[in-house]
Amino acid sequence: MVIFDLICDQHHEFEGWFKSSDELSAQQASGMLICPVCDSDEVHKKITAPKLGKKSNASSVQQMALNPEQLAGAGSKQAYEQLQRMMGKVHDFIDANFEDVGNKFAGEALSMHKGEKEVSNIRGTANAEQLKELAQEGVTALPLPPKPLDKKKLN
Ligand SMILES: [Zn+2]
Repeated sequence: MVIFDLICDQHHEFEGWFKSSDELSAQQASGMLICPVCDSDEVHKKITAPKLGKKSNASSVQQMALNPEQLAGAGSKQAYEQLQRMMGKVHDFIDANFEDVGNKFAGEALSMHKGEKEVSNIRGTANAEQLKELAQEGVTALPLPPKPLDKKKLN
């Protein structure tokens, strides 16, 4: 069993228990990974700073979590902050250039694909079934990277 700290696109944080990290990826890809608070399937592994003061299982959690200290390699926080800024830019770009169609995403994407609607950049949410349908129609939908952490939450 491995435990991951997860976060949804509404910034709800929760823990997920999986047989392996592969199982987490599989559930993520199929949209089965759902936020227990808001039912969002935009769930990602939380990028966490190393946790201090957690109980016995803390070390295994840290190993499996995307660890900013490991990302930085030399233990500097610079790379982590750079990553946060990059993700911020990605989201700024998406916010500015993609229309949020919410849960109508699958339908809209399909209409565009079939030429029933003018093609434009859209973002939104889709469940596993809808993603499967889109894939069968040859429509590619990409998951968004997690939003950068709120500076205030970083202490
Ligand atoms: Zn949520």
